[in-house]
Amino acid sequence: MPLSCSICQLAYDGSSEAAIGALPCGHVFHVDCVQKWFNQLNDTCPDCRSKSDPKNLLRLFFDAPQNTGETFEAQAFRLEQELAETRKELNECKANLVCKNNTITFLEKQNENLTQTSKAARLAMVKNIEMEKQLKFLEEIRANRDHLATQLALLKDRKRPADIEDRDIS
Ligand SMILES: [Zn+2]
Ligand SMILES: [Zn+2]
Repeated sequence: MPLSCSICQLAYDGSSEAAIGALPCGHVFHVDCVQKWFNQLNDTCPDCRSKSDPKNLLRLFFDAPQNTGETFEAQAFRLEQELAETRKELNECKANLVCKNNTITFLEKQNENLTQTSKAARLAMVKNIEMEKQLKFLEEIRANRDHLATQLALLKDRKRPADIEDRDIS
């Protein structure tokens, strides 16, 4: 629990605006608060009721750590909120990671499919080359056949007059 002024219940935050003073009995208050207390015609310490006089108030100065004016409760609340925010971010990151992993799995599968398609395409290409070779071979055979047919026709033509002569003779 932070040290606080028993008159106003506020914690000493070390700011220069909130001057602090001690009475001879040793009890410490905000200077403004204790001045008001004595101005209300009190003549005793608010804490221990021993007779006192504001003239004997001793100003206290101390190096307080840099304070944002935040109470411990506010600080705890802020830190809890920051923690909740961080947890939320962490969950978002996790969800994102799951998404990315799914994408990677999907892409890997696609890659596998493409590799298989590529293999099939290469096989088809090899087959195509073979078929082209066979086609060329067939074309050569056909050309050869055509050539032979032409020669055969020529031979027949050459033979025909002889046939006719033979027929005439007989
Ligand atoms: Zn006070
Ligand atoms: Zn006192």
